Amino acid sequence: MTPSISTANYLCIGCPLGCRLEVDTAEEDRIVEIRGFSCKRGKEYAAQEHIDPRRNVALTVGLRGGALPRLPVKTSAAVPKARVLALCAALRDLVIDAPVRVGQVVAVNPLGLGADIVATREMGVG
Ligand code: SF4
Repeated sequence: MTPSISTANYLCIGCPLGCRLEVDTAEEDRIVEIRGFSCKRGKEYAAQEHIDPRRNVALTVGLRGGALPRLPVKTSAAVPKARVLALCAALRDLVIDAPVRVGQVVAVNPLGLGADIVATREMGVG
């Protein structure tokens, strides 16, 4: 009997070309074919996006005693897409003391997602 094939569609975000990717899966979501990519990076993105979609997250946290009231930060690595909102909620009340240097870790591996939170801007005392 021929296995039933499902097709999932994704838009590659690897470069401005925006290739439309198709991922065919058979039983138990096993990937059998990937189409639509124009380079190896796109093929890898399609598989990752289907199996374990992840996102880099950029946001701001509170800053005490700084030139501005908020400090721009980002994750040091991509985190599971399904946990992005929970991560933002966990950081909602975080307040860092100025001064802060670029790349400084302001939270270590919150929620155990495998990524630290690092400052993306130098912030002196206000
Ligand atoms: S598949 Fe390659 S060429 Fe196409 S959008 Fe992705 S990175 Fe760009």
